[in-house]
Amino acid sequence: MNASAIPAIDATDTTDAATGRRPHAADCAGALFAEHALLPGGWARDVLLRWDGAGTLLSVQPHALPGTAPRAPGPLVPGMPNLHSHAFQRAFAGLTEYRAEARDSFWSWRDLMYRFAGRITPGTLQAIATWLYVEMLEAGYTSVCEFHYVHHDADGRPYADDAELSLALLRAARQAGIGITLLPVLYQSSGFGGQPPRADQARFIRSTASMLALLQRLLPEVRAQGAALGLAPHSLRAVPADSLREAVEGLAALDARAPIHIHIAEQTQEVDDCLAWSGQRPVQWLLEHAPVDARWCLVHATHMTPAEYAGAARSGAVAGICPTTEANLGDGIFDMPRWLSHGGAWGVGSDSHACVNAAEELLMLEYSQRLSLRQRNVLAGPDPQVGTALWSAAVRGGAQASGRPVGGLAAGQQADFLALDPAHLALAGLPVQAMLSAHVFGSHRSSALHSLWVGGTQRVAAGRHALRDDAAQAFVAARSALITS
Ligand SMILES: [Zn+2]
Repeated sequence: MNASAIPAIDATDTTDAATGRRPHAADCAGALFAEHALLPGGWARDVLLRWDGAGTLLSVQPHALPGTAPRAPGPLVPGMPNLHSHAFQRAFAGLTEYRAEARDSFWSWRDLMYRFAGRITPGTLQAIATWLYVEMLEAGYTSVCEFHYVHHDADGRPYADDAELSLALLRAARQAGIGITLLPVLYQSSGFGGQPPRADQARFIRSTASMLALLQRLLPEVRAQGAALGLAPHSLRAVPADSLREAVEGLAALDARAPIHIHIAEQTQEVDDCLAWSGQRPVQWLLEHAPVDARWCLVHATHMTPAEYAGAARSGAVAGICPTTEANLGDGIFDMPRWLSHGGAWGVGSDSHACVNAAEELLMLEYSQRLSLRQRNVLAGPDPQVGTALWSAAVRGGAQASGRPVGGLAAGQQADFLALDPAHLALAGLPVQAMLSAHVFGSHRSSALHSLWVGGTQRVAAGRHALRDDAAQAFVAARSALITS
């Protein structure tokens, strides 16, 4: 469908809330009419979307007439931001599902993952990431936060262009057409208190000055792509306290609103080590020693006390939950009802990419709560439909963590959305209010996602991305090279 040639259509209010500017009719570059669309306030009928040449929504008007706008192939829902990704790990999915030790753990998995990371090249990274981003788009994600920590060559030396691997990820995102927040990772030590890094961590290591120089180098590239740039101090075990402070201050000087993501309390051993080092638990330490606010995303805040849940939610930070990876690695279960009782924001990430499917992350999140609480429909919100409540909240929190305007179908946000297939067996004949629950909980043999747009450009049609075959072939070649090298 080509929406770019659609003439401008009158709408009642096209004023940009942020700038107060009323766009000229010529600003409208695309439009779409949907019988049903999930807006921030819930499902609405006869919705006309209009966006400008930059892919920003000019207006979202319910009870509208279609005029000459093309019709969406099904109910529209906002695209899902994926708030946590290590792209290269996609090629590693399925390769550690065998018992190697009497008691395998996150840490034995990490040793294997490091061996794999040691072989990544700029070419293989770009091929893996391009395929991964194609998969994400076909599975409902319209943007991704890339927590990127392999910086140097296989010997731990900087590439001739120090940004080589970061640029490979930006190119992959551009090729696939997914929005991206690039989060270069600061990694300096192998354990709390500045323990020297291990040999197999050499590709990750940077001084704070080198990290700030990398961010400076990347800023124009990122902006030219309409992407966002932030910082990811890897974890409290990998970043000494002084470096954390200096890096966060340096980032704020570059961009006061840039996102900051950190792995915080994924494993109980990490909590024990932090207690031994500081007398405090990781989240407790972070809240007392860092300026944690709405810019921050606390990834895997799995092991918190009730006081930490309250304090972290109060800070305004987003909880970055990666349900299928946390299940795969045996991390533990995040206490969602407690987090929500404090009004905490949250979103989902596919992290190690054992699973790449926005609906399945939400399914796993709800099921983990059901299993631990022995209840049903635990995470229903203002909307009693669990699928709708989960989807809407994860879009809001994911947008906040992304530092990009990708928070749903509203003027000023990116035109990032997907159309469900009303003819799919899981959805056919259902009331529209039940369709997201049916998509999340009942459509897994084949996805009920029909089409998807990023910034007003259609990237998936009839369930397929145009690059699917080529990108898949390049991915398989890259994975084979990594396994045999
Ligand atoms: Zn991670």
